[in-house]
Amino acid sequence: MIKQTIQIFGRIKPTRTTQAVYSVDNEDQTGASLEFVVPKGLADGFVNNKRESYKFRFQKLFDQAAKQEDVFEKIAKPVADSVLAGYNGTIFAYGQTGSGKTFTITGGAEHYRDRGIIPRTLSYLFECFSQDSSMIYTTHISYLEIYNEMGYDLLDSRHEASRLEDLPKVVIMEDPEQNIHLKNLTLQLTANEEEALNLLFLGDTNRMIAETPMNQASTRSHCVFTVHLCRREPGSATVRRSKLHLVDLAGSDRASKTGLNGQLLTEAKYINLSLHYLEQVIIALSEKNRSHIPYRNSMLTSLLRDSLGGNCMTTMIATIAADKRNLHESISTCRFAQRVALIKNEAILNEELDPALLIARLKREILSLKDELLMVTGEQRDDQLTVDEIQKLEESVKVFLDDPDPDVTLPLGADHRKIQHCFSLLKKIITDKSDGGNNLCDVRQPPEATMRGEVIEASDHTAAEVSRLKEMLTQRDNEISILVKMLKKEKKRAQDAAAQLDNITSNQNSASQNALRSPALPLMSDGSSDAESTDHGRRAVQYMKRGPQLSMGKQEAFETFIRDHQDHLTIEDNKNLLKQRSAEARKLGELLNETRNSINELKRQLEKQRRQRAAHGVMESHTETEEEVDPVEENLLQHIEREKKAYKSTVGRLKALRTEIEHLQLLLERAKVKLQRDFHQWWSQEALSVQLSATCGLIVFNTVTLASSAWNGVFTETCS
Ligand code: ADP
Ligand code: MG
Repeated sequence: MIKQTIQIFGRIKPTRTTQAVYSVDNEDQTGASLEFVVPKGLADGFVNNKRESYKFRFQKLFDQAAKQEDVFEKIAKPVADSVLAGYNGTIFAYGQTGSGKTFTITGGAEHYRDRGIIPRTLSYLFECFSQDSSMIYTTHISYLEIYNEMGYDLLDSRHEASRLEDLPKVVIMEDPEQNIHLKNLTLQLTANEEEALNLLFLGDTNRMIAETPMNQASTRSHCVFTVHLCRREPGSATVRRSKLHLVDLAGSDRASKTGLNGQLLTEAKYINLSLHYLEQVIIALSEKNRSHIPYRNSMLTSLLRDSLGGNCMTTMIATIAADKRNLHESISTCRFAQRVALIKNEAILNEELDPALLIARLKREILSLKDELLMVTGEQRDDQLTVDEIQKLEESVKVFLDDPDPDVTLPLGADHRKIQHCFSLLKKIITDKSDGGNNLCDVRQPPEATMRGEVIEASDHTAAEVSRLKEMLTQRDNEISILVKMLKKEKKRAQDAAAQLDNITSNQNSASQNALRSPALPLMSDGSSDAESTDHGRRAVQYMKRGPQLSMGKQEAFETFIRDHQDHLTIEDNKNLLKQRSAEARKLGELLNETRNSINELKRQLEKQRRQRAAHGVMESHTETEEEVDPVEENLLQHIEREKKAYKSTVGRLKALRTEIEHLQLLLERAKVKLQRDFHQWWSQEALSVQLSATCGLIVFNTVTLASSAWNGVFTETCS
């Protein structure tokens, strides 16, 4: 058993503000300290107007310049190591919205170097498995989101088609030993790093799709990525099972500050409630002599029961946005961390007996019992009944059933096999009978009913078709309106660009030159946008390759939408990087082939040299020469060794490159899904506004018509 308090680390997010309100001291042997200096102007009416500095202790602090790699090495690797050894581990990030929790746990969505603790830990674990051939490792992964006290499976395949709220809820169950089980949460078996990464991205994409501007689930929900590990020595009786929870908590912001309203306020309260219960558990745990810990108050605390004061090695990362504006939140994050640091956990090695071994033992027991039975009854019994025995049984059952006497019995003796067989026979007879009954029902159905059904169905069908066509018509109308609007905007943009260019040239050139040039400008800008649009066309087709089919108009709009999207540049950068890396990988592959050929060639030469030397030795019948070191052979051997080293290092580089390429592909895939989602949201908004303005137009038109007909009425009356 390992007794350990929860380890606390702090990470400060890079900020653009130059004025530092904090200082970090990492020099201390026993840990690090973070001090906030409250500026005099702010101290008044702030946290405590008598104090100007607040100091907090941490295991270690990661200041603004800290790299993701350092965070992984110092925080996650030790936890991963203990999980490999068979202990449970948890890493959770706590901090206000925007302070870098997701960046730290999952990573940035833009660059490979920004990948966070989850992808790096997966990479590390699978690397360790491959290096340790003495053990058999099995890995399962689950990804849970808790939103408004409800659990959702982020790896649920139905996710793409539905809203979060429509998915089956993950439910917490407790067995008599108070172990927690999660119903409706899938555990996916993963054979390698690539599969595990795919699951992480699948979960994150599902999370993104479910999020709408009205439900900013990503800041209001908790996400728990869990690696379930099983380690077994081949042929050994015991297995070690351990769990690693990587938790991205909801933003710890207080509702009083966020000042939200309506539906959002309820949600904010919920986050607070959930984190409030977490805090209550932590307070209870940090106090001595508390017998009851209120784990059951919320889903999050039930789930993290082992991680908090239980069988787990737990680490907390406090993420801090340390600028003046966020001072209040930063100080309360640190206070929370100080309380967490008091909690003691007792991690035990999760070792248990292998069920396979148990089965083998039970089989042996059965064999010996059979032997005993044989000794007692003196009758050799097979597992199966003989044909003769079966026939006799069938006859007895028939007699038994045909006998009208209610007290009739079916004598079978103490033979378990015979009893079982009779039950099967009886079941078959009953099932056959009830099947016959069902068939009767089907046959008796009146034919008119079926015909009427068909007619009704057919008319339903036509009505459905008509409404489908109507809907399509409205959609096309909307499409045309949106496109016209876009076209106008584009035209204006082209004109603006032309005007801008015009201005620049007019500043640089004389008036006469300017007069000559300006007619040509619109042509220039037209030309360039043409070239661009074909480029975008190609790109759009690429994006849409695996997306839903769009109508022609919508696709046109999509192409323009991509060009104007904020992620456009990042996507292009990543695509170029991917191209570069793929080319590099190809080159390395070629290099690998060349080195392999060179090694083979050198080996051939070595072989030849050895044969020649042997032949030479026989001819000359020299015995001493065998002892001598042949310089040519020595040279060849050294050369082979060098090539082998080069080969190994190229393999290593290629492996790292492959991980990067896969990661980049996943980043691009996610960006694509985000683009599509944003486009569809934008499109439906546009369609709605087109419809609204059409309805308004109709109302105005009707009012005008009504007014004019009323006027006409008055006019005619007056005239007559
Ligand atoms: P949270 O999950 O706490 O709400 P995020 O992780 O989403 O916050 O971070 C908010 C923004 O700040 C993101 O755009 C993220 O990329 C950026 N960010 C956070 N931490 C860092 C960091 N250490 N380095 C660079 N960018 C960061
Ligand atoms: Mg986040």
